[in-house]
Amino acid sequence: MKADIRDIIESLKCYIELERLSGVDEYCRTSTDAGKTHNEPEAIDALKNEVIHCTRCDLHKTKRHYVFGAGSPAARLMFVGEAPGEDEDAQGLPFVGRAGQLLTKIIEAMGLTRQDVFIANILKCRPPNNRAPLPTEILACQEYVQRQITCIRPKVICTLGKFASQTLLKSEVPISALRGTFREYGGIKVMPTFHPAYLLRNPPDKKLVWEDMKKIMKALSRD
Ligand code: SF4
Repeated sequence: MKADIRDIIESLKCYIELERLSGVDEYCRTSTDAGKTHNEPEAIDALKNEVIHCTRCDLHKTKRHYVFGAGSPAARLMFVGEAPGEDEDAQGLPFVGRAGQLLTKIIEAMGLTRQDVFIANILKCRPPNNRAPLPTEILACQEYVQRQITCIRPKVICTLGKFASQTLLKSEVPISALRGTFREYGGIKVMPTFHPAYLLRNPPDKKLVWEDMKKIMKALSRD
């Protein structure tokens, strides 16, 4: 609990520091922003219906629930992780375990809620025992996240961890080298950063992730 409070205080300090340095008084807008011209909630519903009947790879046989993703179809910021874990598989929702709780804190420290953003994974079904996704599984499933991005058209995508970053950016560069610099996917800014599960094991690197989040907040504040 003490560590959680320290994390929140640290996040708030960074948030206030950014406010002071940038002179920007509004970082992120809600889904009703005038700058967001269009998105396709019907298309994303249709895509969800497609995903929850998917049998493209064997993971559908061992999963409990498909985890399509959650959040606003008009989100200006989209997070993309690797794959559902045990908690996500049980609830059918993305990032609801310990790593997910940390991601929620990061989102809230950015002045947003989970309802303002969209959270998805590359894989929609849990790999057994949380093993790493197989290349064949990524190949089978990646089209879904690509179509989610097409439907939502976020201004910024934040990829969480090695698998999401390397898959979306078609790169083999290690996440430690990818993170911290905006990349590009289909004309959309992509900020690769560490996965929250990694941060649970390596708390000192939270400050690096917060640096990445500050860059995202600046990018979101620009229009
Ligand atoms: S992981 Fe993706 S491709 Fe494989 S069955 Fe699930 S939804 Fe289909």
